[in-house]
Amino acid sequence: MLRLDLLHDEISGNKWFKLKYNLEQAQKEKKDTILTFGGAWSNHIVATAAACDLLGFKSIGIIRGEELNEDSSPSLILARGHNMQLYFVSRELYGEKEDPGFIDYLNKEFYQPYIIPEGGNNDLGIKGCKEILSFCEQEKYTHICCAVGAGATLTGLIESASMNLRLLGFSALRNADYLKNKIEKSLTGYGENISWKLITDYHFGGFAKKTPELLEFMRDFYEKNKIVLDFVYTAKMMFGINDLIKKEYFSSGSRILAIHTGGLQGNKSLTV
Ligand SMILES: *Cc1c(COP(=O)(O)O)cnc(C)c1O
Repeated sequence: MLRLDLLHDEISGNKWFKLKYNLEQAQKEKKDTILTFGGAWSNHIVATAAACDLLGFKSIGIIRGEELNEDSSPSLILARGHNMQLYFVSRELYGEKEDPGFIDYLNKEFYQPYIIPEGGNNDLGIKGCKEILSFCEQEKYTHICCAVGAGATLTGLIESASMNLRLLGFSALRNADYLKNKIEKSLTGYGENISWKLITDYHFGGFAKKTPELLEFMRDFYEKNKIVLDFVYTAKMMFGINDLIKKEYFSSGSRILAIHTGGLQGNKSLTV
Protein backbone atom coordinates (compact mmCIF):
# COMPACT_ATOMS: atom_id res chain seq x y z
CA MET A 1 0.00 0.00 0.00
CA LEU A 2 1.27 3.47 -0.89
CA ARG A 3 0.41 5.54 2.18
CA LEU A 4 -0.47 8.98 0.86
CA ASP A 5 -2.60 9.32 3.99
CA LEU A 6 0.64 9.84 5.91
CA LEU A 7 1.71 12.94 3.93
CA HIS A 8 -0.21 15.35 6.16
CA ASP A 9 -3.18 15.08 8.57
CA GLU A 10 -5.39 17.52 6.74
CA ILE A 11 -3.84 18.16 3.32
CA SER A 12 -4.44 14.53 2.85
CA GLY A 13 -3.58 11.97 0.22
CA ASN A 14 -4.43 12.74 -3.37
CA LYS A 15 -5.83 16.17 -2.50
CA TRP A 16 -2.34 17.54 -1.93
CA PHE A 17 -1.31 16.44 -5.42
CA LYS A 18 -4.38 18.08 -6.94
CA LEU A 19 -3.74 21.34 -5.10
CA LYS A 20 -0.01 21.59 -5.76
CA TYR A 21 0.01 23.09 -9.27
CA ASN A 22 -3.20 25.01 -8.72
CA LEU A 23 -1.68 26.86 -5.77
CA GLU A 24 1.54 27.38 -7.71
CA GLN A 25 -0.49 28.89 -10.56
CA ALA A 26 -2.34 31.14 -8.10
CA GLN A 27 1.02 32.40 -6.83
CA LYS A 28 2.18 33.06 -10.40
CA GLU A 29 -0.99 35.05 -11.05
CA LYS A 30 -0.38 36.98 -7.83
CA LYS A 31 -3.75 35.98 -6.42
CA ASP A 32 -4.14 36.26 -2.67
CA THR A 33 -7.46 34.37 -2.37
CA ILE A 34 -8.44 30.84 -3.36
CA LEU A 35 -12.12 29.97 -3.85
CA THR A 36 -13.40 26.42 -4.16
CA PHE A 37 -16.49 24.25 -3.76
CA GLY A 38 -17.53 21.19 -1.74
CA GLY A 39 -20.01 19.35 0.44
CA ALA A 40 -20.16 19.39 4.24
CA TRP A 41 -17.84 16.37 4.52
CA SER A 42 -15.49 17.28 1.69
CA ASN A 43 -11.87 16.18 2.04
CA HIS A 44 -11.02 18.74 -0.62
CA ILE A 45 -12.50 21.63 1.41
CA VAL A 46 -10.45 20.69 4.47
CA ALA A 47 -7.28 20.16 2.41
CA THR A 48 -7.70 23.50 0.60
CA ALA A 49 -8.34 25.39 3.84
CA ALA A 50 -5.27 23.85 5.50
CA ALA A 51 -2.97 24.34 2.49
CA CYS A 52 -4.06 27.98 2.07
CA ASP A 53 -3.50 28.63 5.75
CA LEU A 54 -0.02 27.13 5.49
CA LEU A 55 0.93 29.07 2.35
CA GLY A 56 -0.63 32.41 3.29
CA PHE A 57 -3.63 32.48 0.94
CA LYS A 58 -7.07 33.58 2.05
CA SER A 59 -9.60 30.87 1.31
CA ILE A 60 -13.29 30.81 0.51
CA GLY A 61 -15.45 27.68 0.49
CA ILE A 62 -18.78 27.57 -1.34
CA ILE A 63 -20.63 24.80 0.50
CA ARG A 64 -23.57 22.77 -0.82
CA GLY A 65 -26.61 23.10 1.44
CA GLU A 66 -28.16 26.40 2.53
CA GLU A 67 -29.52 24.78 5.71
CA LEU A 68 -25.99 24.18 7.00
CA ASN A 69 -23.76 26.38 9.12
CA GLU A 70 -20.12 26.50 10.21
CA ASP A 71 -20.71 23.94 12.96
CA SER A 72 -22.60 21.42 10.83
CA SER A 73 -19.75 18.95 10.49
CA PRO A 74 -16.26 18.29 11.87
CA SER A 75 -14.91 18.99 8.37
CA LEU A 76 -16.43 22.48 8.30
CA ILE A 77 -15.17 23.16 11.82
CA LEU A 78 -11.66 22.19 10.66
CA ALA A 79 -11.97 24.40 7.56
CA ARG A 80 -13.10 27.37 9.61
CA GLY A 81 -10.25 26.70 12.04
CA HIS A 82 -7.97 27.37 9.07
CA ASN A 83 -9.76 30.68 8.49
CA MET A 84 -11.70 29.54 5.45
CA GLN A 85 -14.71 31.80 4.87
CA LEU A 86 -17.69 29.55 4.33
CA TYR A 87 -20.75 30.41 2.23
CA PHE A 88 -23.74 28.10 2.18
CA VAL A 89 -25.74 27.85 -1.01
CA SER A 90 -28.77 25.85 -2.11
CA ARG A 91 -28.24 22.60 -3.98
CA GLU A 92 -29.73 24.29 -7.00
CA LEU A 93 -27.23 27.15 -7.04
CA TYR A 94 -24.40 24.75 -6.17
CA GLY A 95 -25.32 22.82 -9.30
CA GLU A 96 -24.34 25.90 -11.31
CA LYS A 97 -20.78 25.88 -9.97
CA GLU A 98 -19.33 25.49 -13.46
CA ASP A 99 -21.70 27.88 -15.24
CA PRO A 100 -19.95 30.99 -16.61
CA GLY A 101 -22.67 33.24 -15.15
CA PHE A 102 -22.13 31.98 -11.61
CA ILE A 103 -18.34 32.08 -12.01
CA ASP A 104 -18.61 35.71 -13.21
CA TYR A 105 -20.68 36.54 -10.18
CA LEU A 106 -18.13 34.92 -7.82
CA ASN A 107 -15.29 36.78 -9.52
CA LYS A 108 -17.02 40.12 -8.94
CA GLU A 109 -18.25 39.36 -5.45
CA PHE A 110 -14.88 38.10 -4.19
CA TYR A 111 -12.51 40.34 -6.20
CA GLN A 112 -11.15 37.88 -8.76
CA PRO A 113 -10.05 34.96 -6.58
CA TYR A 114 -8.20 31.97 -8.04
CA ILE A 115 -11.02 29.45 -8.51
CA ILE A 116 -10.39 25.72 -8.09
CA PRO A 117 -13.23 23.41 -9.18
CA GLU A 118 -14.85 20.91 -6.79
CA GLY A 119 -12.44 18.18 -5.73
CA GLY A 120 -9.48 19.96 -7.35
CA ASN A 121 -10.44 18.23 -10.57
CA ASN A 122 -8.91 20.25 -13.39
CA ASP A 123 -5.90 19.86 -15.68
CA LEU A 124 -3.49 21.17 -13.05
CA GLY A 125 -5.00 18.69 -10.58
CA ILE A 126 -4.33 15.85 -13.00
CA LYS A 127 -0.80 17.19 -13.57
CA GLY A 128 -0.14 16.88 -9.83
CA CYS A 129 -1.54 13.34 -9.73
CA LYS A 130 1.00 12.33 -12.38
CA GLU A 131 3.61 12.65 -9.61
CA ILE A 132 2.00 10.11 -7.26
CA LEU A 133 3.80 7.12 -8.76
CA SER A 134 7.18 8.76 -8.30
CA PHE A 135 6.72 7.78 -4.65
CA CYS A 136 6.86 4.04 -5.39
CA GLU A 137 9.01 1.62 -7.34
CA GLN A 138 6.67 0.81 -10.18
CA GLU A 139 8.73 -2.10 -11.48
CA LYS A 140 7.93 -4.07 -8.32
CA TYR A 141 4.24 -4.32 -9.22
CA THR A 142 1.93 -5.81 -11.82
CA HIS A 143 -1.22 -3.90 -10.76
CA ILE A 144 -1.89 -0.49 -9.23
CA CYS A 145 -5.26 0.24 -7.63
CA CYS A 146 -6.89 3.47 -6.53
CA ALA A 147 -10.28 4.72 -5.40
CA VAL A 148 -12.19 6.86 -7.90
CA GLY A 149 -14.49 9.83 -7.37
CA ALA A 150 -14.37 12.20 -10.33
CA GLY A 151 -11.44 10.33 -11.87
CA ALA A 152 -8.66 12.93 -11.87
CA THR A 153 -6.40 10.75 -9.73
CA LEU A 154 -6.87 7.68 -11.93
CA THR A 155 -6.28 9.82 -15.03
CA GLY A 156 -3.00 11.10 -13.58
CA LEU A 157 -1.93 7.56 -12.74
CA ILE A 158 -2.72 6.32 -16.26
CA GLU A 159 -0.76 9.21 -17.73
CA SER A 160 2.32 8.39 -15.68
CA ALA A 161 2.35 4.60 -15.26
CA SER A 162 5.02 2.46 -16.88
CA MET A 163 3.85 0.51 -19.90
CA ASN A 164 3.55 -2.99 -18.45
CA LEU A 165 1.42 -2.00 -15.43
CA ARG A 166 -2.31 -2.60 -15.17
CA LEU A 167 -4.35 0.05 -13.41
CA LEU A 168 -7.63 -0.58 -11.64
CA GLY A 169 -9.88 2.22 -10.40
CA PHE A 170 -12.64 1.39 -7.90
CA SER A 171 -15.56 3.77 -8.19
CA ALA A 172 -17.01 5.15 -4.96
CA LEU A 173 -20.13 6.30 -6.83
CA ARG A 174 -23.11 4.42 -8.18
CA ASN A 175 -23.74 4.43 -11.94
CA ALA A 176 -20.17 5.46 -12.61
CA ASP A 177 -19.89 3.80 -16.01
CA TYR A 178 -20.09 7.20 -17.73
CA LEU A 179 -16.71 7.97 -16.17
CA LYS A 180 -15.01 5.44 -18.45
CA ASN A 181 -15.80 7.63 -21.42
CA LYS A 182 -14.86 10.81 -19.64
CA ILE A 183 -11.47 9.42 -18.63
CA GLU A 184 -10.84 7.94 -22.07
CA LYS A 185 -11.52 11.29 -23.72
CA SER A 186 -9.15 13.12 -21.41
CA LEU A 187 -6.18 10.83 -22.10
CA THR A 188 -3.25 11.92 -24.23
CA GLY A 189 -1.40 9.67 -26.63
CA TYR A 190 0.67 8.26 -23.78
CA GLY A 191 -2.24 7.20 -21.61
CA GLU A 192 -4.05 5.57 -24.53
CA ASN A 193 -1.42 2.82 -24.50
CA ILE A 194 -1.82 1.96 -20.83
CA SER A 195 -4.02 -0.90 -19.71
CA TRP A 196 -6.62 0.30 -17.21
CA LYS A 197 -10.08 -0.58 -15.99
CA LEU A 198 -12.80 1.16 -14.01
CA ILE A 199 -14.50 -1.26 -11.62
CA THR A 200 -18.00 -0.17 -10.66
CA ASP A 201 -19.26 -3.06 -8.50
CA TYR A 202 -18.13 -1.89 -5.07
CA HIS A 203 -20.02 1.36 -4.43
CA PHE A 204 -22.06 -0.07 -1.51
CA GLY A 205 -25.19 1.85 -2.50
CA GLY A 206 -23.57 5.06 -3.71
CA PHE A 207 -21.33 7.93 -2.77
CA ALA A 208 -20.69 8.11 1.02
CA LYS A 209 -23.18 5.28 1.57
CA LYS A 210 -22.08 2.46 3.82
CA THR A 211 -23.26 -0.96 4.97
CA PRO A 212 -22.54 -2.95 8.15
CA GLU A 213 -20.47 -5.30 5.96
CA LEU A 214 -18.23 -2.44 4.83
CA LEU A 215 -17.74 -1.12 8.37
CA GLU A 216 -16.97 -4.66 9.57
CA PHE A 217 -14.41 -4.96 6.78
CA MET A 218 -12.76 -1.66 7.87
CA ARG A 219 -12.52 -2.85 11.48
CA ASP A 220 -11.11 -6.19 10.41
CA PHE A 221 -8.61 -4.52 8.06
CA TYR A 222 -7.46 -2.32 10.92
CA GLU A 223 -7.10 -5.31 13.28
CA LYS A 224 -4.93 -7.16 10.80
CA ASN A 225 -2.87 -4.33 9.33
CA LYS A 226 -3.15 -1.39 11.74
CA ILE A 227 -4.08 0.81 8.79
CA VAL A 228 -7.18 3.02 9.00
CA LEU A 229 -9.30 3.24 5.86
CA ASP A 230 -12.04 5.78 5.11
CA PHE A 231 -15.52 4.48 4.38
CA VAL A 232 -16.16 6.77 1.41
CA TYR A 233 -13.23 5.73 -0.78
CA THR A 234 -10.38 3.52 0.36
CA ALA A 235 -12.43 0.93 2.28
CA LYS A 236 -14.50 0.29 -0.85
CA MET A 237 -11.33 -0.11 -2.91
CA MET A 238 -9.72 -2.53 -0.43
CA PHE A 239 -12.96 -4.50 -0.13
CA GLY A 240 -13.02 -4.73 -3.92
CA ILE A 241 -9.39 -5.84 -4.18
CA ASN A 242 -9.99 -8.47 -1.52
CA ASP A 243 -13.10 -9.73 -3.25
CA LEU A 244 -11.37 -9.90 -6.64
CA ILE A 245 -8.50 -11.85 -5.07
CA LYS A 246 -11.05 -14.34 -3.69
CA LYS A 247 -12.64 -14.60 -7.14
CA GLU A 248 -9.19 -15.29 -8.68
CA TYR A 249 -9.32 -12.18 -10.85
CA PHE A 250 -5.58 -11.72 -10.36
CA SER A 251 -3.30 -14.41 -11.75
CA SER A 252 -0.89 -16.04 -9.34
CA GLY A 253 2.31 -14.06 -8.91
CA SER A 254 0.50 -10.72 -9.28
CA ARG A 255 1.92 -7.96 -7.12
CA ILE A 256 -0.72 -5.37 -6.27
CA LEU A 257 -0.03 -1.85 -5.05
CA ALA A 258 -3.07 -0.16 -3.47
CA ILE A 259 -2.91 3.61 -3.11
CA HIS A 260 -4.22 4.97 0.18
CA THR A 261 -5.58 8.32 -0.96
CA GLY A 262 -6.18 9.59 2.58
CA GLY A 263 -9.45 11.26 3.50
CA LEU A 264 -9.48 9.96 7.05
CA GLN A 265 -10.95 13.19 8.45
CA GLY A 266 -14.26 12.12 6.84
CA ASN A 267 -14.49 9.18 9.27
CA LYS A 268 -15.50 11.68 11.95
CA SER A 269 -19.01 11.42 10.54
CA LEU A 270 -19.11 7.85 11.89
CA THR A 271 -19.12 9.16 15.46
CA VAL A 272 -21.58 12.08 15.19
C1 LIG B 1 -11.22 12.84 -3.37
C2 LIG B 1 -10.80 11.46 -3.02
C3 LIG B 1 -10.71 10.43 -3.99
C4 LIG B 1 -11.18 10.61 -5.41
O1 LIG B 1 -10.31 11.26 -6.25
P1 LIG B 1 -10.73 11.59 -7.74
O2 LIG B 1 -9.52 12.19 -8.33
O3 LIG B 1 -11.88 12.57 -7.68
O4 LIG B 1 -11.16 10.35 -8.42
C5 LIG B 1 -10.23 9.19 -3.61
N1 LIG B 1 -9.88 8.95 -2.31
C6 LIG B 1 -9.97 9.88 -1.35
C7 LIG B 1 -9.61 9.52 0.03
C8 LIG B 1 -10.43 11.17 -1.67
O5 LIG B 1 -10.54 12.10 -0.70
